[in-house]
Amino acid sequence: QRGRNAGKQFIEYSAQFGLEAVNRHRLLQGLNEAIEHNHLFLMYQPKVRLHDRAVVGLEALVRWRTASGEFISPAEFIPVAEMSGLIKKVDLRVFEMSLVALQTLKHLGLAVPLSFNVTVSDLEDEVFTHALQRLVDSNSELKQLLEIELTESQAMADYQQISPLLKQLIDAGIGVNIDDFGTGYSSLKHLTDLTATHLKIDRSFVDSMLTDCAGEHVVDVIIRLGKRFNFTVVAEGVETEAQQQKLMQLGCDIGQGYLFAKPMVLDDLIIWLKNNNIA
Ligand code: C2E
Ligand code: MG
Ligand code: MG
Ligand code: MG
Repeated sequence: QRGRNAGKQFIEYSAQFGLEAVNRHRLLQGLNEAIEHNHLFLMYQPKVRLHDRAVVGLEALVRWRTASGEFISPAEFIPVAEMSGLIKKVDLRVFEMSLVALQTLKHLGLAVPLSFNVTVSDLEDEVFTHALQRLVDSNSELKQLLEIELTESQAMADYQQISPLLKQLIDAGIGVNIDDFGTGYSSLKHLTDLTATHLKIDRSFVDSMLTDCAGEHVVDVIIRLGKRFNFTVVAEGVETEAQQQKLMQLGCDIGQGYLFAKPMVLDDLIIWLKNNNIA
């Protein structure tokens, strides 16, 4: 009986595994075409000063709309793209589109610092770093407005290797946000010399902060750490007034989340920026 069950489980497991591999392959193929055919586009989510909700920055978030009009979430395709190396192509497109958006905003007198998400493989890729370097070497004023976001787990996976790359960016005036902070097991040693300008408190802690003491403690510790080591602390995933109040009480200066604004396409963002104060 047991043996039969195990056999059945194995067959189900392989079927599922096979299906996953097929799906992954299909996803990657589709993504490759999406890059070529410009089916990727950006949405922009504001970051605001908590005490008066003035805009202090924007984050570019990639979106994929397939030829048939279906949306595929980055939460679905970014991890697959990371496994395959295709992420470098995606992020290079995101970088280019971010620059164009910044240029547009600047022309409209709506210049705001803009961050985009990168992975370690981007920072280790010559094509990508050369593109960044070209911007750094240019006398474009846009570079003062550009920031990157790298998750804490990515940064810590090979900190010795990554840290000098981050330092170069910071020296060139490009801000470095450590994303999803609190989930990535930074060692205490690295925390004191973290190469970054901003810490983004992971949404999961902001989520549980009001119902769970441990969540509040983590948020409190990150904010204190940020103050102590001169990082700008940004809370992500702020959805309620109560969370906003609590974060201010704990000393957090900046927030991002549906309470303030959802990610928007550029046209909507422009209207939104005109109707809100820019810090
Ligand atoms: P992230 O960088 O931590 O981005 C925050 C995610 O939380 C975004 O999801 C955003 O839409 C969502 N969010 C913002 N405010 C709220 C809120 O108040 N409540 C809730 N429930 N969610 C909120 P999104 O756009 O689906 O992106 C998911 C992740 O995919 C990002 O997490 C980032 O890690 C990755 N990603 C997105 N765009 C890119 C990209 O261009 N390159 C790379 N490498 N990764 C990207
Ligand atoms: Mg991010
Ligand atoms: Mg984040
Ligand atoms: Mg996150």
